[in-house]
Amino acid sequence: MDIFSKIKDFVKQVNEIEYSISNNKREFLEIYERNLALEQEILERTQELDQANKAFLTLKHVWDLMNSSQPLATVLDKLVNSLHGEMGYINSTILKLEEEENGKYFTIKAFSMSPIFKKLMDYSNGRLQDSKLFYDETSTLARCIKEQRILCTKEYLSNINCLLKDFTLEQIQEINKLGISKQLIAIPLYQSQKPFGVMLVFSPRDIVTDKELNFLSLFANQVEMAITIANLFETIRKEAVTDGLTELYNRRYFNEELRKEADRAKRLNQSFTIISLDLDYLKKINDMYGHAAGDIAIKAIADVMKKNARSIDIPARLGGEEFCILLPGIDSKGGMIAAERIRSAIESYNVDEIGKITASIGVGTYPEHSQNLDELLEMTDQAMYRSKINGRNRVTLAKNAEEESWHTIAFGAFMDIINKKRIPIPDNLAQTINDKLESLKNESLKTRESKDTLYSIVDMVSQTYNPSVNIGSTKEKISLGIKLAQKLEISKEDIDRLKIAMLLYDIGNIMLPEEIFNKKSPLTEKEKEQIHEHPIIAAREILQPISSITDVIPIIENHHENWDGTGYPNKKSGKDIPITSQIILLIDAYTAMNQDRPYRKALPLEEIIEIIKKDSGKKWNKEVVEEFVGILHELIR
Ligand code: GH3
Ligand code: MG
Repeated sequence: MDIFSKIKDFVKQVNEIEYSISNNKREFLEIYERNLALEQEILERTQELDQANKAFLTLKHVWDLMNSSQPLATVLDKLVNSLHGEMGYINSTILKLEEEENGKYFTIKAFSMSPIFKKLMDYSNGRLQDSKLFYDETSTLARCIKEQRILCTKEYLSNINCLLKDFTLEQIQEINKLGISKQLIAIPLYQSQKPFGVMLVFSPRDIVTDKELNFLSLFANQVEMAITIANLFETIRKEAVTDGLTELYNRRYFNEELRKEADRAKRLNQSFTIISLDLDYLKKINDMYGHAAGDIAIKAIADVMKKNARSIDIPARLGGEEFCILLPGIDSKGGMIAAERIRSAIESYNVDEIGKITASIGVGTYPEHSQNLDELLEMTDQAMYRSKINGRNRVTLAKNAEEESWHTIAFGAFMDIINKKRIPIPDNLAQTINDKLESLKNESLKTRESKDTLYSIVDMVSQTYNPSVNIGSTKEKISLGIKLAQKLEISKEDIDRLKIAMLLYDIGNIMLPEEIFNKKSPLTEKEKEQIHEHPIIAAREILQPISSITDVIPIIENHHENWDGTGYPNKKSGKDIPITSQIILLIDAYTAMNQDRPYRKALPLEEIIEIIKKDSGKKWNKEVVEEFVGILHELIR
């Protein structure tokens, strides 16, 4: 081979190699490009899978929620938050379509916890969830409900503006800065074939894909199912906690909520108030108009209670015609205002067939009146009872726990009398009484034993001037006095004063000469006069300095005045004599006749009744005699 041939051959070989390299390179490029495309596809598929997975998880979440028997509000809250978080939306909201006489409006049922929501809450002073949002026929939201299909719009700000007409444009633009929404998607929600409302989704993406719409539509179906199920749970739950006749809460639920509220109030150092309410004269209503009318009266009360309750209040029917309302976070001042509003609303309610009805109300506040729940309920009930005996159709505030009970006042008065030697008694007796009083000092003065001790002290003092006084007679007198006062429907405050007066009304006798009490023959007119005037003057002198009992002194001063004006010291008559003094006069006369005296034996009960009846309307008020004779007849039986 010549050199040219060799070169030619060589060039050919080089060409072939070049060709082969270029071929390989092209193949390599093709593979490379194919790989790139594959990678891209894998990435897209992975993203889709990821998206589908998220969608699936979101839907599963809805499913789990539906089975959790949680209240509707909680379920919807969780739904919007999961949609917002997992699908990367700026915000997600559920609005309920409401309708009233003035037209349609929206309320917010759930709002995802986004910066937008926080801003809106700020603007509305935290009342966004209670406010009515405008229903604008032309808005995308209204159209999506009307047309029953999902609608997308880029007009996101103008749609918000339609809802929140109270907000300024600047405020809405301010909201816009928190997350630029490119698309607003409105999905209609239905419940039992009727429009429930709309789900709003604020998307940061320019394009809404068909897949996304499919997912949202699926999601909305699940939300509808969740609403139905939650409502079902709500109905069942409601039936378990409400009273059938009135649809107020029942006793069990009220007690549960009360315990929870007490814990909350303790933890947060807040107040709550209980209003206790009892329908007046229901027995009469039942008798006159029938039981069905009585039920209507009960429903009327329930109606007023519901109308006057805030959403967090718990109005309840505890039984028959016994009602209570729990007012969380309310102090006694607010509680009294609420109770008075209810009282006056009941008074002005015209009940079919019956006409006007009234209720007696008691108000008690934690921690002002008591920090113990049972005690607070008891005190509230007592306040209600005071409303009854003070004439019904009124509101009474519970008494402060620190306010002194009558035992405490009586105990203090005796401490004062003995320690300051306001009455002349032998030293050894003063010592005995003092010891007894000291032993009571650290005890609860409400116990039966401590009351008995107080009565025995009075008996001991009485015996120093009148040895024929029976031990135990003070206790009997007070028990009769309370019974009689209750029959006469005297207020609890006056009954308390009466109790103290009954412990002290005879104390002035200690200033009388001993012989008078031990006399075997009936007293002369002069002696009677002495017995009349002197003790009353003495009692006033002994008791005047004790400030806690100043309102008891008039009762004692008048306890010898007769109904017909023949008594002493001021010859007062009829209603001028305090009813509590009238009670003491009668019970004192009864006790004297019921005990042996040096000049006669105790009289039989029948004879005492006759004597009392004989002077009815003269010495004694007829009404008081009537009730007292009733009590004595019960004693005979
Ligand atoms: P007061 O003003 O002192 O409350 O008098 P009152 O007649 O309402 O007496 P009280 O509260 O002692 O009696 C309640 C009566 O209410 C007794 C009972 O017959 C009647 N009552 C209880 N539950 C119902 C009910 O569900 N329907 C009807 N119609 N009456 C009821
Ligand atoms: Mg009643």
